[in-house]
Amino acid sequence: MSASLLAKSMASLALGVHRPRVQQAVLPTIAAIAPRRSAAVAVPDDHATTGRQNQHQERPLAPEIDNSLGNEESVLQNAVRARGPRNTWTRDEIAAIYDTPLMDLVYNASTVHRRFHDSSQIQLCTLLSIKTGGCTEDCSYCAQSSRYDTGLKASKLVTMGSVLKAARMARDNGSTRFCMGAAWRDMKGRKSNLRDIKEMIKEVRGMGMEVCVTLGMLDDAQAKELKEAGLTAYNHNVDTSREFYPSVITTRSYDERLNTIDNVSQAGISVCSGGILGLGENKEDHVGLIYTLSTLPNHPESVPINTLVPIPGTPLGDNKPIEFKSVLRTIATARIVMPKSIVRLAAGRITLSEEKQAMCFMAGANAIFTGDKMLTTDCTSWDEDKDLLQGWGLRPMKSFEREAVNPEMVGSDETDLANETSPVALFGTEKSFEQLKRNTGTSV
Ligand code: SF4
Repeated sequence: MSASLLAKSMASLALGVHRPRVQQAVLPTIAAIAPRRSAAVAVPDDHATTGRQNQHQERPLAPEIDNSLGNEESVLQNAVRARGPRNTWTRDEIAAIYDTPLMDLVYNASTVHRRFHDSSQIQLCTLLSIKTGGCTEDCSYCAQSSRYDTGLKASKLVTMGSVLKAARMARDNGSTRFCMGAAWRDMKGRKSNLRDIKEMIKEVRGMGMEVCVTLGMLDDAQAKELKEAGLTAYNHNVDTSREFYPSVITTRSYDERLNTIDNVSQAGISVCSGGILGLGENKEDHVGLIYTLSTLPNHPESVPINTLVPIPGTPLGDNKPIEFKSVLRTIATARIVMPKSIVRLAAGRITLSEEKQAMCFMAGANAIFTGDKMLTTDCTSWDEDKDLLQGWGLRPMKSFEREAVNPEMVGSDETDLANETSPVALFGTEKSFEQLKRNTGTSV
């Protein structure tokens, strides 16, 4: 099964309204940067509102690329002003954004968030374990791996009745996406399981909910079957950077994960893929994780950011919690680099104070898992989350509601992004996955 979702939950852990105010969105962003430079900058026509541009102005309007700025500032400014997603990111560019002073980073991420999403909406998802434990993989954070003694009892695929009961409860409490996770390496030889899961997908979709599953590695035929059953999204996390990955999992390769993501994407299913923070990685691995996801042919529709909840009995059971500032920095960078994606505050949220969660929402996170359980472990309850959202002026996202963007600023992916030679390229366009992998140094 997909590493992250299940892994985290088990461990109590370890497991995307218009705001057409273009200038309101851009001005504060630039204002946040302006105090650190002295030269006046050019003003493009679409932002020139005063006609009084000179070096005595305190807050120049949206500048074009400004060579007087340091590299980090120009990378950030260009990212914040982009009209759509791009998958031509370099590690250095992502690192420059990641290293922005934290309050500026959050401010700019919040600006991007408001351009591409209704910032008052948070997607509520509920995650059910439909087959628990006994997994042959060695993901070193996971309570469900049969290789570690975590005290977890393995079980078989649950019944349709229990799925429908859980989905109904989730829907009635405001969740609009229902996720089902099974602790499997892959779906090879699981024809009857696949048949049963397709029926579950059809039934839950019939209730008006988005449906996501995470079942481990998939081949292209299996992905097509799930698509035909009505599956909305498939979760398959890359977990961390390519470089750090072998320190965490040895039983399946990074490229095998990317192949499953490609099979899912080619089948027309939305991809949910993210990572886990706190595995012992460093900040370059956070950059590497975002680099992998943001240079896929299409950005994942959903990017879960999990934090490790160490599970006794697993190799990472004694890991120290990751600093919140690193979590916030990763969320903000993901929001800026993948502006259309849903950024999902996933496993580990239960350990965050209300104020820390609010900072994550300010930095662009716009989805949470909520309910009685997250797979087999405790989860922040619907009632707590309703209070949380209400208190911060947020509201649950409706099913399939997230295509709310500012058409003036976001523009047309097809017209703006299809030219491979453009610095902005490729979202929602066809590009060979093999070519992308060559460009990003992957080997499959
Ligand atoms: S061990 Fe199995 S269930 Fe756990 S994260 Fe890895 S693949 Fe998923």
